Amino acid sequence: MPICDIYFCCVIHFTMFKRFLMKYRNVIFALALAVLIALSAGACFFALSLNTAQAQRLTVLLDAGHGGVDGGVTGVKTGVKESDVNLLFCREIQRAFEENGIKVVQTRMSENGLYGAATSGYKRRDMQKRAQIIHDTAPSVVLSVHQNSYPIPTRRGAQVFFREGAEQSKLLAHHLQKALNGMPERVREFSPLVGDYYILNCSEYPSVIIECGFLTSPEDEALLLSEEYRKRFSKAVVDGVLTFLFSSASGG
Ligand SMILES: [Zn+2]
Repeated sequence: MPICDIYFCCVIHFTMFKRFLMKYRNVIFALALAVLIALSAGACFFALSLNTAQAQRLTVLLDAGHGGVDGGVTGVKTGVKESDVNLLFCREIQRAFEENGIKVVQTRMSENGLYGAATSGYKRRDMQKRAQIIHDTAPSVVLSVHQNSYPIPTRRGAQVFFREGAEQSKLLAHHLQKALNGMPERVREFSPLVGDYYILNCSEYPSVIIECGFLTSPEDEALLLSEEYRKRFSKAVVDGVLTFLFSSASGG
């Protein structure tokens, strides 16, 4: 076939193809859109089922600090015991994790301490029992929940502590503090802090202490005793922990 015929043939085919496109452009557009939606839905479903499967393998260990004869610090206005506030927070945080399909184990479920009889050495026995529960559980993370105190009543806010040199704990503390800093009640941008505490040193699992607020501040005390605040605080804790867990799982 001469070159001019080939050219002529191509022009005709191109013109026909253009007409075809113009005539059926709405149908083609709708088909392309449908394929795009199907692909996105498939990707979302895959991501969701992956996350659900991951969530079912996770265990969070919640440790309500103090208990029994050891009440911790007390509320400046109401005299509420830290040990009771810790328990209230842990119950709410447990609910929030379970809503996300994540298993929770708590060291202390009642007002009682974990030391047996309140005789000499009870504090050591109490801490050893907590460490044993952590080792038996082999959790994904350890969250020890406390309330803070300070001689000046204007000191406020939630602060997260980790063990120096424990990189995974530091990362967990970073994500948790970031989530808590995102709450509208935050007083300023806190950074996670290094702390030398038994509960952070007793295992190699990513572990942090969450000081939810200062019971020596009347403003913080009122917030800490508000159920609505504890619910929102707990959601922020879940957000921080999930960000840590999924970023660790994906190597991010
Ligand atoms: Zn405490």
